[in-house]
Amino acid sequence: MSAQSEAELLPPLQAVAIPNGAASDSTPPTIKLHKKLIRRELQDRSQWFRHGVQAAFVMLNIGLGIQFCLWTRYYETAGRTLYVNRPAGVEGWLPIAGMMNTKYLLETHSIPQIHPAAMFLFLAFLFSSLLLKKAFCSWLCPIGTLSELLWKTGERFFGRNFQLAKWLDLPLRGLKYVLLGFFAFVIGSMSAAALADFLHSPYGMVADVKMLNFFRDLGQTGIIVMVVLLALSFFIRNFWCRYLCPYGALMGLASLLSPAKIRRDAAACIDCGKCARACSANLPVDRLVQIRSVECAACMECIAVCPAENALQFSLPPRRGAEVNDRWRNLVLTPMAVTIVLACVFFGFVGYAKATGHWNTNLPHSLYLELVPNANHLSHPGM
Ligand code: SF4
Ligand code: SF4
Repeated sequence: MSAQSEAELLPPLQAVAIPNGAASDSTPPTIKLHKKLIRRELQDRSQWFRHGVQAAFVMLNIGLGIQFCLWTRYYETAGRTLYVNRPAGVEGWLPIAGMMNTKYLLETHSIPQIHPAAMFLFLAFLFSSLLLKKAFCSWLCPIGTLSELLWKTGERFFGRNFQLAKWLDLPLRGLKYVLLGFFAFVIGSMSAAALADFLHSPYGMVADVKMLNFFRDLGQTGIIVMVVLLALSFFIRNFWCRYLCPYGALMGLASLLSPAKIRRDAAACIDCGKCARACSANLPVDRLVQIRSVECAACMECIAVCPAENALQFSLPPRRGAEVNDRWRNLVLTPMAVTIVLACVFFGFVGYAKATGHWNTNLPHSLYLELVPNANHLSHPGM
């Protein structure tokens, strides 16, 4: 009889003496506590929803990327190639412009004219983290999706992933906060006028083209860095996200305020540890009652592998005083609810920006004809 089916038959919290054949009379019998497993009735569909949203977002970004490349080529060839509209959505890849514009908005109460979409997308993702932990990282971000694909491929290949020793893991996790702190300090110390000057400079106006050029002309050092990052992501779960991404660091800090958290009902849990083993953030899910960690990306993988009914939930705070099982009943966030909330936040911000005429950066063709082909020669205004 397998350990699991044995556990299913045992009453909750019953102490069972398991005889140790080799033990002498003086050796006390090994005592194990088993809890009754009440199997989940419904199949978990969280990963089906999540992977669907991830795929949709990757496709959206590929579409935006292709359109932006065509738009850039048009100006680089002085209008000899196909013209397409500039897709403002690429500004999702300009998080620093998003932060700058957010500060500008907070100081001046007026919506910036250059890269406003970067700000609306930044605010949408930040707001989603305030509501749903770091769901942005595991549901929407294409880099997060790529990281997940790499470590899962590595796991399939080697049968396991590798974890850095705690003494190395902990300080390395701090790196992303150092990077975030640097950007926050620089942006925080700029006045609204300085921010506007920066974004209206030739460099600021084609920051998106410079970003594209960075990836198009990686050079030897860039290629080596990319290969090392990809290789590390193959062995270590979410290497980039866990140690280096300042955007994820900010989302993690915002997620501390999120009312939704992974919560474990210790009475329903059979202590199998599957959730902790599945957790891409290496969190001890099986030993906590709720996951407050900034590393939790609301991926729901822990819920997907949990065999026990109602043992793990992504839920709002339980009502005080209610019975354990009743507490969560109306407060659980199903995968569909997460998908709907993310869609409402994303399309809400984008829709508002579009409806109010604040989505696009409207610069004249003549200016783009001059700036885009020379983007590589434009230096940072502060240099
Ligand atoms: S605790 Fe669960 S939801 Fe959070 S990162 Fe780990 S597996 Fe994902
Ligand atoms: S919460 Fe974790 S340890 Fe408890 S039953 Fe579910 S997977 Fe197993």
